[in-house]
Amino acid sequence: MALLEIRDLCVNYGPIQAVRNINMDVDEGSIVALLGANGAGKTTTLRTISGVIKPASGSVKFDGNEIGGRRASRVARLGVNMSPEGRLIFNELSVEENLRAGAYCIRSRAETERNMKRVLTLFPRLEERLKQHAGTLSGGEQQMLAIGRALMSKPRLIMLDEPSMGLAPLLVSQIFSIIRELKDTGVTILLVEQNARMALRIADRAYVLETGRVKLSDSADALLNNDEVQKAYLGG
Ligand code: ATP
Repeated sequence: MALLEIRDLCVNYGPIQAVRNINMDVDEGSIVALLGANGAGKTTTLRTISGVIKPASGSVKFDGNEIGGRRASRVARLGVNMSPEGRLIFNELSVEENLRAGAYCIRSRAETERNMKRVLTLFPRLEERLKQHAGTLSGGEQQMLAIGRALMSKPRLIMLDEPSMGLAPLLVSQIFSIIRELKDTGVTILLVEQNARMALRIADRAYVLETGRVKLSDSADALLNNDEVQKAYLGG
């Protein structure tokens, strides 16, 4: 059984069918990339998994439990968290306060402190800037903060929405190596990325969405060599 199993998922915004009959499996300990053009339904899929929006129909199972339509705080407590597109950090709060906000669903103070230690070990750059206003961080540091904040609830599944967006090439490589390190710590990762080549290089499996449907799904290696994917997403 996959850690995350999505079956026949449909999500609408009023009359707009943003996600149509999606099926997807994410195995524990793997990186799964979700690719597709703007408006394909990637963010909608992530937001539905995290409980921010409700599905119109279909099922989302995490570790065997139905989470489709559950409240986001409940889904977070079960072990799913998300680093949103555009980072959405609190500019006026310090780095530390932003991180602590990510532990809102953790009741034990000791556990929050343990999680803080883990996050700061992964991101020493954030440790040096704990008291700094988050709004004054560089783009790459803000991205680290967004990922760190999502990790503060010690999720089993973390969803990263466009982590490389707006970053210079060197920082993009850094963020991707952090994602690889994260995988090595045992976290399962669902990754939405415009940078299809980099995403396919670190992913185990990938799904390509087109106007709300799964167009292709295969191992990342197979998709890297797929003609259609090369033409549409890899500039080949
Ligand atoms: P991008 O890469 O541009 O973020 P995406 O693949 O993440 O794209 P979604 O943001 O999931 O795509 O959007 C899927 C569809 O749903 C699009 O047609 C979009 O216009 C529509 N949509 C998204 N959010 C809303 C909303 N709040 N209200 C109405 N329609 C929406």
